[in-house]
Amino acid sequence: MRTSASYTQPVKHGAAPAVDNRNLARVMRAVRDFCRTAHAPITAFVAQTERDPYRVLTACILSLRTQDQVTAGAAARLFEIAPNSRALAASPVAVIRRAIYPVGFYRTKAERLVEIGRILQREFSGRVPDDIDTLLGLPGVGRKTANLVVTVAYSLPGICVDTHVHRISNRWGYVRTRSPEETEQALREKLPRRYWLEFNRLLVTLGQTICRPVRPRCDACPIERWCARIGVNERKRARRRLTSA
Ligand code: SF4
Repeated sequence: MRTSASYTQPVKHGAAPAVDNRNLARVMRAVRDFCRTAHAPITAFVAQTERDPYRVLTACILSLRTQDQVTAGAAARLFEIAPNSRALAASPVAVIRRAIYPVGFYRTKAERLVEIGRILQREFSGRVPDDIDTLLGLPGVGRKTANLVVTVAYSLPGICVDTHVHRISNRWGYVRTRSPEETEQALREKLPRRYWLEFNRLLVTLGQTICRPVRPRCDACPIERWCARIGVNERKRARRRLTSA
């Protein structure tokens, strides 16, 4: 089994570039500049939640395994019916279920949302907790959701690692990990704290527009010159080897 240190050791690519802490400031500046004008669903998501802890928490739960457009519609209907945890706790599960349909696992999510509303009322005076460990105690809340609440709603240190952050951090060659959980651990060790709050928003914007899971648009990418592109060009390189053999 690998130790956590091996996730953050420099990745060896011969003479190839890779994002590391020596060029990270330039990389982050370039991504930040790009994100100022990029139109990505993450921007709409943050705007819709208004950075309100209750809205960030519930919208993030809705977004799990659900397309962005579907999440946006379901969140708008949920906020109409249950604009706060008190209203959510008092809502029948069937009403919430109808409101959030067709998000993925809407039946389970409706039950969990109402349960969360009741727990918030009973144990936290209706307030969403601001620390990761307490948030993880709520039903259906994993590390991604907990980190998002802490960083987006409370502007407290945390690193929200979703599929985009996991994929891009590895493509950059900044970490080498096999799961979002490993990536969060690696980033907590390696990424300077001043980047923690914005890291998710910037990489999700990049992932939703340029560095997509399939056929990333490297030629249009603002950080192409630094990126190791781990796993991106392997098929292309193999094809080139075959044709030149
Ligand atoms: S689009 Fe290409 S160059 Fe840009 S971050 Fe993704 S893999 Fe790297």
